Amino acid sequence: MTTKQQGKKTIIEKANKKIKAQKIDMSERRNFLKTSFNAVSKNEILSRSIVSAFLLELNPTIEELSDIKTAVSEAVTNCVVHGYDNMIGLVNMDLELIGNEITIRISDNGVGIEDIKKAREPFFTTKPQGERSGMGFTVMESFMDSVDVYNNSNGQGVTVVLKKKIKTGGEEEQI
Ligand code: ATP
Ligand code: MG
Repeated sequence: MTTKQQGKKTIIEKANKKIKAQKIDMSERRNFLKTSFNAVSKNEILSRSIVSAFLLELNPTIEELSDIKTAVSEAVTNCVVHGYDNMIGLVNMDLELIGNEITIRISDNGVGIEDIKKAREPFFTTKPQGERSGMGFTVMESFMDSVDVYNNSNGQGVTVVLKKKIKTGGEEEQI
């Protein structure tokens, strides 16, 4: 082998190594769904149905599904009633499945939250005169493994990140 050929071989070997390192293990369950819908209260039902359909392959229990749907409802309702105060706007809901863990990102481009720590406290609400009880974030926390809330970096709106591992996931495949 000439020196030139040897050099080329080394370059190819290095490139292959790099590609291999970047490859995702596709034997692991992965899925992703990006959605946007109008910030109207009827779409709370839509968001619940989307999450249910997305989770179907994990074969969750009725309880797990109900917990996740309840948390999603709370987050979407917050976008509608607080983020946009029932004015026109869009809610984004991105779903990601890796292994048996679902990550749900729900965001709006509304007014944002002045004090997130306070907003997350049980019974805190900026709409006490209505039917709000200030328990939305508390409910999300009790039903999900983790809840992150932040104001969007562009200064518009809020993103809520909900995570939960489905314990029964993949049972069928293990048989
Ligand atoms: P409930 O959910 O029990 O009907 P609530 O919506 O007031 O009442 P939380 O969901 O816990 O209670 O939210 C607490 C507070 O956080 C809200 O009152 C509101 O001020 C603020 N908040 C929550 N989500 C948003 C959002 N997407 N945009 C702006 N403010 C929000
Ligand atoms: Mg709420």
